[in-house]
Amino acid sequence: MTTPQQLRREAIRMTAHAETGHIPSNLSAIEIIHTLFMRVLKLDPERPDWPDRDRFIPSKGHCAAAIYLAMAAAGLFDRKRLDAFNVDGGEVPAILARYGLPGLEADSGPLGRGISIGIGVALAAKHDNRDYRTYVLVGDGECQEGQIWEAAMLAPTLKLDNLVVIVDDNRLQGSFVTSEVIESKLDEQFAAFGWQVHRVDGHSVEELEEALRAPQDRPKVVLATTVKGKGVAMMEHEPDWHYRRLTFSELVVSLRGLR
Ligand SMILES: [Mg+2]
Repeated sequence: MTTPQQLRREAIRMTAHAETGHIPSNLSAIEIIHTLFMRVLKLDPERPDWPDRDRFIPSKGHCAAAIYLAMAAAGLFDRKRLDAFNVDGGEVPAILARYGLPGLEADSGPLGRGISIGIGVALAAKHDNRDYRTYVLVGDGECQEGQIWEAAMLAPTLKLDNLVVIVDDNRLQGSFVTSEVIESKLDEQFAAFGWQVHRVDGHSVEELEEALRAPQDRPKVVLATTVKGKGVAMMEHEPDWHYRRLTFSELVVSLRGLR
């Protein structure tokens, strides 16, 4: 599984019938996760706990399936372990958590914590004189959490030029339109707090990679414009699909029509 479309197909299969599989939340983040794990993150599959590895903090845990699949593709663990996805009491929960898979740096679950965790990890790199970088993935709805903005204020103060936040800006949250819940201007807000801001097409691997690799002299945020449910026509931009599962015939239609 080396292309975004292969990852998208696998993520649909994995989440299709799972309770809280959050299919559309996975699909908007496919290219982001692919770019990180296939192109950008410095990892050693033989040593998931290599001290100089780049760190990935999954604050948006709703796209757990795509993250697990990309990690398996990167060689961090055997793909077979993902057969236990969403099994009660298993090590591969549908909302990402560390119950046994190697290479996971942090739990998700309660939203809004990832940038704070990332600050601690990035600060540790400075303290230990290591040159690894810390990447945090958050959702746009998640950016309504107060803790996000406490962290957004702190990171530039600490001059963390080794911290990168990616926002999966699909403009939906749960079953709602994000701007109808709380109106925000993420580009301007992060810039006002002192971040280096990049806005990219979140389904363009090239644009994502260029922004992720762009030199930085302070914390960087990559605001990725995405489509929730990307690739499956009946799901794209449709808030009602957030909690839904696919019937067998809908699964077949989704995979056949993948675009
Ligand atoms: Mg969203």
